Amino acid sequence: MPPQGSCTVIVGCQWGDEGKGKIVDVLAEDVDIVARYQGGANAGHTVHVGEDEFILHQIPSGVLHAGKRCLLGNGVVLDIRQFFDEYDALLDRGIDLDGRVGVSRRAQLLLPYHRLLDKAVESAAATKIGTTGRGIGPAYEDKAGRRGLRVADLGNPERLHKRIAAAQERVTRRLEQLGSGATGALDVAMEEALSLGERLLSIATDTGQEITAALKAGKRVLLEGAQGTALDLDHGTYPFVTSSNTTAASAATGTGIGPTSIDAVVGVVKAYTTRVGEGPLPTAFEPEMDEHVRALGGEFGATTGRPRRCGWFDSVLARHAAQVNGLTGIAVTKLDVLDTLSTLEIATAYRMPDGSITEDFPADTWSLSGVEPIYETLPGWEAPTGDVRRLEDLPANARGYLDRIEELSGAPVQWVSVGTKRRQIIPVG
Ligand code: GDP
Repeated sequence: MPPQGSCTVIVGCQWGDEGKGKIVDVLAEDVDIVARYQGGANAGHTVHVGEDEFILHQIPSGVLHAGKRCLLGNGVVLDIRQFFDEYDALLDRGIDLDGRVGVSRRAQLLLPYHRLLDKAVESAAATKIGTTGRGIGPAYEDKAGRRGLRVADLGNPERLHKRIAAAQERVTRRLEQLGSGATGALDVAMEEALSLGERLLSIATDTGQEITAALKAGKRVLLEGAQGTALDLDHGTYPFVTSSNTTAASAATGTGIGPTSIDAVVGVVKAYTTRVGEGPLPTAFEPEMDEHVRALGGEFGATTGRPRRCGWFDSVLARHAAQVNGLTGIAVTKLDVLDTLSTLEIATAYRMPDGSITEDFPADTWSLSGVEPIYETLPGWEAPTGDVRRLEDLPANARGYLDRIEELSGAPVQWVSVGTKRRQIIPVG
């Protein structure tokens, strides 16, 4: 038998910002390749290494471990300019990237006109989604509309310029319709982006082939999702979602491997719930508690700096995430943020607007804003957990809280994170 590697997906189980970057950073130590499978520069992973803080938008968090290969799969929308700003910033901070970063030739290009469109569409929309304004939605629309440009197109300048001219004409018309004449510096921005085309082609690869070959050679691979399950285009709180499939099955499509190559799916859940952008948050705290936990957890967006709304742990959503992603395990993050609370609530079910009770996450997003969560109250542990490294050393009430998360979610807790630092992690079992 040839050696067989292993392939693990890391997926967010709430509305994003669960701390996936930290978990990927911890697990990356033992793998050979880390690949992103969807999203774009709207994701923002914050990773602390020693005293240094790194905010990564497009390059996988695995890049902070020397020698690991980091890939961006075909499922991502790649903002070339932003990508190289991030790449060069890592080089400036002394990270050796030689031969370490690869980009799928099939990845879609996110171009400056997508950003213009994103802002114009959002400001004209009757129902605001709360997008990051980074052009992600319009880039995925172009992909589905078969008008998009891919990394491979950069290799044929004649065809590229023809398609870009057509795109710019389309965009100008659309911006006019939206009442936005903001095409100002578009030509300059396009030139800047395309001038980086050769550089991007020099690191282009076939991510599916590369990962499949690595697995056959016995190597270990992590596939890293952006955002979270409740923001998935199909399984999230549509229309308040992102424009790609964030969930685990998309890790195969978004990198070019077969679903049978995936061995494990680790879902990252925060020990409470947060949401940035518009849309319902059933377990939202009352204003005073909201502000308190936001301050304790530093809940401000890594990409936009927007304050995140905070709430109690929602096991209805966690069960939905366990099912949709086929979770084989859970990583619970930010347990330490709850250290000072005297009691904690976990939502076990929802009372729907018509009075019925459900334990399942409703498909009708609009009904979610009228649900009343049914809570179970648990005692807090009121002791610091940041220095704990073994499960048995956690206060009994903290273990009780984790046990309840595990029972209600239906997937075993495999990791508990108790701080921002790499070493602040408790492996379970
Ligand atoms: P991601 O997009 O899912 O990677 O999440 P973000 O990076 O947007 O948000 C996670 C934030 O929480 C970052 O600032 C992390 O440093 C921080 N973080 C991650 N795990 C923990 C933890 O266990 N405890 C605390 N206090 N902070 C954490």
